[in-house]
Amino acid sequence: MICPYCQQEMQKGELTADGRRGITWWPSDGPSWNRVIVAKNALWQSQAEAFYCGTCKKILIDV
Ligand SMILES: [Zn+2]
Repeated sequence: MICPYCQQEMQKGELTADGRRGITWWPSDGPSWNRVIVAKNALWQSQAEAFYCGTCKKILIDV
């Protein structure tokens, strides 16, 4: 997916929350330490495919 803000390729990944760690974006490819902490607290377990732009610090989610 192309970032609508800077027109560069975004990284594919997933947003997850497991009730212990906060909401986290995990890259589909590459090392797990490239994850992005979105929120420190989470109430329930969930996940959604999400695209991340490291230049703009934006995450896009299809609904
Ligand atoms: Zn961007």
